[in-house]
Amino acid sequence: MVIQSLLPRVNIPETGILQFLFKNTHKTPEDRKLYIDAFTGDSLTYGQLKDNILRFAATLQDKFNFQKGDVVAIYSPNQMDYSVPLLGAVAAGGAASPANPAYTPNELAYQLEMTSAKVLIAHEANIESALAAADLVGLARSNVFVFGKQTVHGVLPYTQVLLGQRKATLIELSAQEAKDTVAYLCFSSGTTGKSKGVMTTHTNITANIVQYEALDGKHVSGTKDKMIGVLPFFHIFGLTLLMHVAVYLGTPVYVMPKFDLIKFCETVQNEKITYTCLVPPIILLLAKHPIIDKYDLSSLKLVICGAAPLSGELSQQVNKRLPTMIVKQGYGLTETSPCAVIEPTDRVVSGIVEIFLLTWNFDLGSIGYLVSNMTAKIVDDDGVELPTGQRGELWLKGPNIMKGYINNPEATADCIDEEGYFHSGDIAIQDNKGHFFIVDRKKELIKYKGFQVPPAELEGILLTSPIVADCAVIGVYDASQATELPRGYITLTANVPATEETAEIIKKFVADQVVYYKQLRSIVFIDEIPKSAAGKILRRVLRDAAEAEQELQ
Ligand code: AMP
Repeated sequence: MVIQSLLPRVNIPETGILQFLFKNTHKTPEDRKLYIDAFTGDSLTYGQLKDNILRFAATLQDKFNFQKGDVVAIYSPNQMDYSVPLLGAVAAGGAASPANPAYTPNELAYQLEMTSAKVLIAHEANIESALAAADLVGLARSNVFVFGKQTVHGVLPYTQVLLGQRKATLIELSAQEAKDTVAYLCFSSGTTGKSKGVMTTHTNITANIVQYEALDGKHVSGTKDKMIGVLPFFHIFGLTLLMHVAVYLGTPVYVMPKFDLIKFCETVQNEKITYTCLVPPIILLLAKHPIIDKYDLSSLKLVICGAAPLSGELSQQVNKRLPTMIVKQGYGLTETSPCAVIEPTDRVVSGIVEIFLLTWNFDLGSIGYLVSNMTAKIVDDDGVELPTGQRGELWLKGPNIMKGYINNPEATADCIDEEGYFHSGDIAIQDNKGHFFIVDRKKELIKYKGFQVPPAELEGILLTSPIVADCAVIGVYDASQATELPRGYITLTANVPATEETAEIIKKFVADQVVYYKQLRSIVFIDEIPKSAAGKILRRVLRDAAEAEQELQ
């Protein structure tokens, strides 16, 4: 059965992202502070943002001959002016590729190489890694810049070099060009293998803005709301919601370069933050951390929680502790730009934000309804559509589905079928009221606090260790941290003892080569890795064993 969205259809903009945002549909005044650094109070107004985007774009064109197909990579924690290079690259006709600021030089070099980035904007905290990565791929150091106003390790601030006097003229895109032209290259491992550059087009983003507006537009606005920007801007959830929807609505965003619970609470309390997007481990802190009681967080009315599963139990706990705050789930992927399924909020009465949850019922643990203009299928292992109430893989189709993976037509063909359905790799159920629930994952992916951990990448690293004969990596859910933790199953080479010490050596071997969240949190020694006749790791067998072990504890 093909499942249609229950929400009204919306008109998908037939224009580029910048034309769409700068149309200023919500009449944001030029002097409204749109991005405010939550730590320093520095800010960027709507007018300054627009100016700087166009100045950045013009300098890219003039100094770097930047054009369609060219890429600016951004390697930084959240910054108040992150959207200047991000949207500036798009305004210049090319694309931006945001990277995790904690990446090791090798991880960043991989992304630079896959995207052929021409310019890299880093941060003073990771500039040495940025330079090392640039050297690895042969990107000239003169094409590397930093955020801020200071020269660091000889690297100039982008504000000094890339904000010239000339402002770029936006390049008009036809409806077809908007559908075809890539604006962003975030990285995702998809259903299998290593990270891949997701080609997110102009239309993918503008579609997702209007799809989200159709759902929550009555509840959020530029004039009454304030957001806190905790989600990393390099991930599609932060990128779309905090750097596109916020600009579109004109909603001020208090930017947190790094998460700090006290600063988070102080900012919500002092600035009267009304709505935001969070991930399950932060919801856990709101539900359980003793410090929460010291603050008045009652201004915060609406939280969209996504990027990883939020259990019904945890939603109940947070709701009990902070009853004026509604936490609802959103589900999506980098490949769906990202919002695909969200719990709708019904109504906001102006002034004091009063939110009434749907007449349709807020079902615990549900990720909600398919957003406008999307269709879905829930299918069995043979791709046969299943009736309502049965669990199967969720396939999604709509204007927010990525164009494909960059330079990887095979991986693209593996996940987008001839009818245009994207195969999510997540196992879902739809109940008879139309709510979707994510109940399992068919794909390899592990999520650590919302961050992607591709098992294939860790297995590749493990196999280079002389003491590892074979291995498999899976995620094991830890309710006390509301996240999965990467676990390695290891078959040792002959005569290596299966001891605590060996486990520590293996953990360190991996930790030295990857960003912190990909580190193995536990090791289990095993005689043989379970594999199918075709040699594919039977992760399900390992996951079932891990779950059974947890039940015994
Ligand atoms: P990413 O591309 O990093 O956003 O990761 C997408 C994956 O995160 C999805 O395929 C799901 O496995 C998982 N995910 C995102 N949101 C949710 C959610 N609300 N509930 C369960 N899993 C989720």
